[in-house]
Amino acid sequence: MARAIYPGSFDPVTYGHLDIIVRSSALVDELIVGVLNNNAKTPLFSVEERVKMLEEATGNISNVKVIPFEGLLIDFAEKMDAGMVVRGLRAITDFENELKMAQTNHKLSPKVETVFLTTSLEHAYLSSTVVKEVACFGGDISQFVPENVERKIQEKMSKKESVHQ
Ligand code: ADP
Repeated sequence: MARAIYPGSFDPVTYGHLDIIVRSSALVDELIVGVLNNNAKTPLFSVEERVKMLEEATGNISNVKVIPFEGLLIDFAEKMDAGMVVRGLRAITDFENELKMAQTNHKLSPKVETVFLTTSLEHAYLSSTVVKEVACFGGDISQFVPENVERKIQEKMSKKESVHQ
């Protein structure tokens, strides 16, 4: 059985991520979306919230599972018995970092291959950071994220505002 992991922070999931999820899940028997619980970063959403939003957004794809993880990606891949890691490439700026990560992971675990999908043109500019910035200033994010995510971001932003008042 071909099982792949698509790892990331997904803080929050965008239509760019979903594009990669739809396309890569069509290439394998099972796609595990690995949600990184990284203490070094301060995400807007907790890992539980990010998992829930992803589950809601991918509920219609039967071979996708959403699972949180911490620590090394290759350890998670081995634990899940996945031989493939999927990453999305938006622009040349992603490339250098992704190349380093893929080569490091291959050194650590030669059994795990990293596969890159290039982003669809309409999502090339899209990142979780941009979505959060636009939302923070009250901009319309409906074209960047699914409705469930849009609602969650707005809830978060209004909570932050009430704390600062
Ligand atoms: P990370 O913190 O690991 O970069 P992200 O959630 O930002 O996690 O991204 C996870 C993966 O999704 C990365 O491979 C990233 O390049 C890819 N990705 C993010 N946004 C897009 C997009 N708009 N189109 C295609 N791939 C994307």
